[in-house]
Amino acid sequence: MRIKRLMGTIWAAYDDEKGVIIDGGKKMDEKRLLRKVNKLGVKIEYILMTHTHYDHTGCVEALRKATGAKVVVGKGEAQYLREGHTPVPKGTNAFFRMIGNAGHNKMPKAVEFYSPVTQDIIEISEDTAIEIDGMDIKAVPLGAHSVGSVGYVIGDSLFAGDVVFGVMHLIYPWFADFTDDIEAAWEKILKSGAKFIYPGHGRRLDMEYFEKKYTERFGQ
Ligand SMILES: [Zn+2]
Ligand SMILES: [Zn+2]
Repeated sequence: MRIKRLMGTIWAAYDDEKGVIIDGGKKMDEKRLLRKVNKLGVKIEYILMTHTHYDHTGCVEALRKATGAKVVVGKGEAQYLREGHTPVPKGTNAFFRMIGNAGHNKMPKAVEFYSPVTQDIIEISEDTAIEIDGMDIKAVPLGAHSVGSVGYVIGDSLFAGDVVFGVMHLIYPWFADFTDDIEAAWEKILKSGAKFIYPGHGRRLDMEYFEKKYTERFGQ
């Protein structure tokens, strides 16, 4: 099985015949993304949504139509996906709140909308194995960043969405709806058995580094 970043927040995990796409980027990525997915030359069976913020959902409906894949999403955000609108969360500290507000003042709320997903949505409300021959995939609800944030354990890798950031040393989520739940979500990631963590934004982290960051912030 191979793992490849297609662009920005979008990853693919695949073998010679089939695969899954993790997240759906921004609307402006659509043409480039469809070309890249085509180039993989495999049947895409699922689009695994870590959550539904606009920067992860922009191409999902186009990708679903082009591939016939089913769309997996946390139960708490399935309705957002059907409506094509997800509220953007607040920054987790004064600096990121300021950035968030500046964005809203420039482009009030417009940024939160994307093409609704019209069919083939699978809702995840508990740890769930995703059925696909020869690939070992488990959906694990994480919450914290958004009401329906879900991590996906694929082999020894965990796709964490925005529950973890991978930008410089700043791996604590920059934005979150439920900051009180971040500790429990991180604990679940620690206990997932994965060796590598793929955040929605930024670079891959290994579990030792993540554990160190967890301990720094939350103690033993
Ligand atoms: Zn997000
Ligand atoms: Zn994001």
